[in-house]
Amino acid sequence: MTEPTRHSGQPIELPLDPWLYDCLPMHGCEVCRVLARQRNTALANGDTWAAYRAASEIREHRNHSAEAAPDSMSSQDQP
Ligand SMILES: [Zn+2]
Repeated sequence: MTEPTRHSGQPIELPLDPWLYDCLPMHGCEVCRVLARQRNTALANGDTWAAYRAASEIREHRNHSAEAAPDSMSSQDQP
């Protein structure tokens, strides 16, 4: 029999699961890059919903633009 471990008094940091913010911006895609910046900025500001929406848009982005020159995109920020 397993009892669920309860952490009383532990503050809930995020209302959403971390994976909801996870995304894989296509390298060189201007749209993904902008959305990734929006997500990181939103996370930094604690705006979790904006971060979720930005990450969701990145995941749903299909037509990645190949125009953008390949630049050294900074590594993703780990939450
Ligand atoms: Zn894209």
